[in-house]
Amino acid sequence: MSNTNKKAGKTAAANKTEKPIMQTKDLVKTYSTGKLETKALQGITLDIPAGSFSCIIGPSGHGKSTLMHLIGGLDRATSGDVIIDGAKISDLTDNELSELRASKIGFVFQFFNLLKNLTAVENIETAMMFSVNAPKSAKEQRVKALELLELVGLADKADAKPNELSGGQQQRVSIARALANDPEILLMDEPTGNLDSRSEEEVLEQLFRIHKTGKTIVIVTHNNELAAQAEIVYEIKDGKLHDLVKKVNAKKTQKKASKRKKVADE
Ligand code: ADP
Repeated sequence: MSNTNKKAGKTAAANKTEKPIMQTKDLVKTYSTGKLETKALQGITLDIPAGSFSCIIGPSGHGKSTLMHLIGGLDRATSGDVIIDGAKISDLTDNELSELRASKIGFVFQFFNLLKNLTAVENIETAMMFSVNAPKSAKEQRVKALELLELVGLADKADAKPNELSGGQQQRVSIARALANDPEILLMDEPTGNLDSRSEEEVLEQLFRIHKTGKTIVIVTHNNELAAQAEIVYEIKDGKLHDLVKKVNAKKTQKKASKRKKVADE
């Protein structure tokens, strides 16, 4: 990690000319359990540029998942703010926050969380039930779910139940499910944490493919090999932004992303 980058990370990231799709401003989260107070985040300020591929790394217990929950609008900060596509989370009611989350963010977790009695295609369809962006009729939902399975290379597994799929395949179904609402951002907590190295490669291949369609990808991970392939890597230690390991020209990234999105939309 370079010293030059260390400084850049502390003042937080992205240069001012680019458009961040997510921002945190002096984000603090303190958990209180009885008399015990845990300062999980102690003032994190960072930007995630639209269309970028970012990783948040750091040792276990240092605040990564807390940060992910806050930037995903799954929990609220003690102080500071999260801004998603221009909307300040602290200004939103719980209902408005749920709507924002459902329309902008797809989540992927380490343990897939697929419904075991449903097939791969049905698991994806369930995510469309409450969505504002997803097609409304059952027929259109089926078409879209099958397209998403194709995108993650599992067109032939539409009727398979989770226990008939490998770990990597299950995670690819959960990525397809996260895309069901056509979110701009994919937010992932250790998506390869429960996979062998071959399955991990399969999943990463699909992620890079999805990134090429213009999505913003943010991954919380211990996996340094994965982080090495990201455009931006934030390191969290003791609840603070310790380091910005690497940052490509984010303006260029954003331009590339809008170009990719345009091509994908055509
Ligand atoms: P990481 O994802 O880096 O492993 P976490 O964000 O899960 O770290 O945890 C940061 C700190 O906050 C840890 O000390 C953890 O024990 C504490 N913590 C996380 N969630 C809770 C919670 N719901 N209640 C109390 N303490 C928590």
